[in-house]
Amino acid sequence: MAKLPRPDKAAALPKVGKSPSVQSKGRCVCGAVELEIDVPAVWSWHDHSQASRHAQGCAYPTYVGSWRSRFRILKGEAQITRFEDPEEGTARSFCARCGTPLIYERPRSPRMVNIPRALFTTRTGREPRYHMYLHEQADWIYLGEPLSPLKGYPGVMRERPRRRKPRDLEPMF
Ligand SMILES: [Zn+2]
Repeated sequence: MAKLPRPDKAAALPKVGKSPSVQSKGRCVCGAVELEIDVPAVWSWHDHSQASRHAQGCAYPTYVGSWRSRFRILKGEAQITRFEDPEEGTARSFCARCGTPLIYERPRSPRMVNIPRALFTTRTGREPRYHMYLHEQADWIYLGEPLSPLKGYPGVMRERPRRRKPRDLEPMF
């Protein structure tokens, strides 16, 4: 895997005393829990693993990875419920009230927390350019195939049926 960018280098700003850090705030759907990270995050990645797809109920979640030391719960800590998977050694935390996934912890990087990118409304300082567990990618994922509007259903787009190659249509004789 490509070497991850070093956050201290990425955060290099003009050296006028200690630069004030910038934060990006996130919240769950019901607003009970609010959190923040110092910007820039370490990295941002798309997680194509079966485990994360199942846990988050989507084709794949996109996470922002932050050092624990640069991550804070601002509000609603008592609302956070945590599920530890003994087989995987992972922990997933979510809002007990609205179910929004909040934190994903992995044993291979104990100093880091992963937060769904979708929780943040402002920039996190990292574009999601990394893909992990592509070998577990769902075979029903949308990969940008051409779409056309579905007649009679405004707002619904439909993937066009795959066009057969002309030679398949030729008669056998
Ligand atoms: Zn909530």
